[in-house]
Amino acid sequence: DEPPARAAVPQAGQDGLVLLRRVGAVDPASLDDYRAAGGYLALRRAFALGPAAIIREVLDAGLVGRGGAAFPTGRKWDATARQPDHPHYLVCNADESEPGTFKDRVVMEGDPFAVIEAMTVAAYATGCRRGFLYLRGEYPRALWLLTNAVERARERNLLGVDILGSGFDFDVEIRRGGGAYICGEETAIFNSIEGYRGEPRSKPPFPVEKGLFGKPTVVNNVETLVNVLPILTGGAAAYAAVGTGGSTGTKLFCLSGTVRRPGIYELPFGATLRELLTLAGGVPEGRRLRAVLLGGAAGSFVRPGELDIPLTFEGTRAAGASLGSGVVLALDDSVDLTGVLLRIAAFFRDESCGQCVPCRVGTVRQEEALHRLARGSGPADVALLRDVGRAMRDASICGLGQTAWNAVESAIDRLGVFADGEKGRAS
Ligand code: NAD
Ligand code: SF4
Repeated sequence: DEPPARAAVPQAGQDGLVLLRRVGAVDPASLDDYRAAGGYLALRRAFALGPAAIIREVLDAGLVGRGGAAFPTGRKWDATARQPDHPHYLVCNADESEPGTFKDRVVMEGDPFAVIEAMTVAAYATGCRRGFLYLRGEYPRALWLLTNAVERARERNLLGVDILGSGFDFDVEIRRGGGAYICGEETAIFNSIEGYRGEPRSKPPFPVEKGLFGKPTVVNNVETLVNVLPILTGGAAAYAAVGTGGSTGTKLFCLSGTVRRPGIYELPFGATLRELLTLAGGVPEGRRLRAVLLGGAAGSFVRPGELDIPLTFEGTRAAGASLGSGVVLALDDSVDLTGVLLRIAAFFRDESCGQCVPCRVGTVRQEEALHRLARGSGPADVALLRDVGRAMRDASICGLGQTAWNAVESAIDRLGVFADGEKGRAS
């Protein structure tokens, strides 16, 4: 049978691609095509190196997580590999749900064997014999192609028992999410796979120690994992030579909003926001850029005067913003900013799992206050937003509640929304 039709994800024709080099260039259903384009060289190199040397390479490459939090991948792998408790599990977090994020989908639909190969390398390095790929339920084409990739890999002894005669056994199970944003939070994934409600657990203990079924677990985002392939085939030094000291390699950026050429862009870390927006054609003719939302609904707005921010984890942090998973949502002067804030607030109110009070109640109060401000209420509601935001940030169990006020705060403080009775519409 055929994979479900591809919904349009516009992509830029770009040079120097690393992570996207096979996307659109090979048949994503063909293992032979994948191998002819360099597929499975990284796994062979991994078996030649052995687990400890693979982890050394990943540490030396400076790879940090691409789900949004930028935690060093090698440290995570090393911590799991050292755990005496067994079995160890690997989870590929493919529940990409941050509004404005669609990079993992492009990788999974365009290069699905790379995801399976990278999971196999990660499992070998960290002593896992079972891996779960937790896939966003709304990605039917990715499901078809990944299922095909797993089956084809099993047929050729690239998954299963004694992979390629290495003595290493590993297999992958695909689990689909049911449409809840919170199920992308790593510990909510564990609950979901184990058959419980998708609610986050308190951390610590971190998954490297107690994760899926209470066992040491490596959780990596799709984009993080596929970075391991060029690290192994090209070496850590060549990988780390691209980007900056704190953010090595390339990054997939998801451009959307009022830009002329929205889509996925792969750039070395360190390019500026201005360069990225220029590649995407800037805002439509006759319009003026009003703001850019970096990092998605949990991220922050930046002003048109801040376009020289380097797109690195450290550069955006220094500028009081965050790169997150790579969302770049451009908003021109035709956009109603209050409407955008109300949409973000409604999203968090809707997606809060309700487990802890600061988030369950705070997301509702935040949305109510924004509605009142949109009707013209005054500074008391801005002060209330600050109080509620602080409580959510300080006292929520997981990242959803902790970041639910980020975008609203930055709109107030950086863009001046609601200042002097402004209701958010740019003139
Ligand atoms: P986090 O900082 O709590 O953890 C990041 C990773 O590092 C986790 O895997 C965690 O287990 C691990 N970790 C942290 N400290 C550790 C330690 N001391 N020892 C071992 N492991 C440790 O962040 P998080 O809540 O997992 O993720 C938040 C990020 O997720 C945000 O930046 C947000 O942008 C992003 N996000 C992405 C999406 C998406 O669709 N890609 C959706 C929602 C949120
Ligand atoms: Fe659930 Fe929100 Fe608490 Fe996270 S912060 S556990 S989403 S109620």
